[in-house]
Amino acid sequence: MKLSIIGAGTIGATLAYQCAEKNLFDELVLVDIAEGLAKGQCLDICHALAYGGETEISCGTYLDMCDSDIIVISAGKPRRPGTDRLDLIRDNCKIIEQISSEIVKNAPDSIVVAVTNPVDIMNRAAFLKTGFDRSRIIGFGGQLDSARFRYLLSLEYSVPVGDVEAYVIGEHGEAQVPVFSRIKIRGELVTIDDQRRDELRTRLRASAMEVIEKKGATVFAPINTLIPMLESIIYDKKETMMCSANLDGEYGLRDVSIGVPTTLGKLGIEKIKEWDLDEYEKKLLVSGAQKLLSYCRSI
Ligand code: NAD
Repeated sequence: MKLSIIGAGTIGATLAYQCAEKNLFDELVLVDIAEGLAKGQCLDICHALAYGGETEISCGTYLDMCDSDIIVISAGKPRRPGTDRLDLIRDNCKIIEQISSEIVKNAPDSIVVAVTNPVDIMNRAAFLKTGFDRSRIIGFGGQLDSARFRYLLSLEYSVPVGDVEAYVIGEHGEAQVPVFSRIKIRGELVTIDDQRRDELRTRLRASAMEVIEKKGATVFAPINTLIPMLESIIYDKKETMMCSANLDGEYGLRDVSIGVPTTLGKLGIEKIKEWDLDEYEKKLLVSGAQKLLSYCRSI
């Protein structure tokens, strides 16, 4: 099993290290336009795992992603304090389009996982540019938002986070949709009124920026929530994961990639699950999709 990671910055290098540390892949390639950076990250990981790593780790060019089973795109500009993910659209879209062309040439059978923000729009761009089946183009974001939501709810209900089951779908951004109608605390459904929902949504939306303002970037949470997605694909676990998927009529939406519950297996997104949502959630999901569509049209 071969993984290529395009973009060897904070996210790409940490992901590479964690994947190698867990021996998830036989082969792992790091590619970055800053070749020295990719080389440095690669050497550091090789040194770190010299007492027992089994993964063959290298850095290289786009040509070296040939025969990759999975390609993670983490190349592009990250958010800075005070900015929105959508501020990155134009710069990152060019990068994703260029990388997508290289993927078509060098790894036409791969499954692509987009991490670069704004991820829903980047995942749409990768889908359009590669022409791959939509099952093989997966955007990462909902699993991370769901983790942050679980953490907030564990504080709200004063329970260990493991006792909370909660999910976030919709845009990986301001229009995210916490699925309040499915929150379970210790296995029991709970009811949260509209005012409290709005307060929790506001806190949830601010979660990532709070980390970025204090430490410069989000790292541990994205990596720890991305790796189970890769594991579900590698081991064909068919787990339910919140992913940005290119919709074709599901939830009454099309021509847009947005966070929805999916089944992830060896073929990528093997199923898009259509959950019953309440009116509040449906309204948020549709307004997020409309916003994303208008951004996609503008570029
Ligand atoms: P970073 O600046 O540390 O790394 C980005 C890397 O991309 C740099 O090393 C840069 O040289 C490289 N790069 C730029 N253009 C390239 C190209 N054409 N080919 C190859 N490499 C190229 O940023 P980071 O913190 O690692 O974040 C990367 C992206 O991931 C950002 O867009 C960030 O917003 C996003 N992100 C998304 C999520 C999510 O939940 N989807 C979470 C965290 C970060």
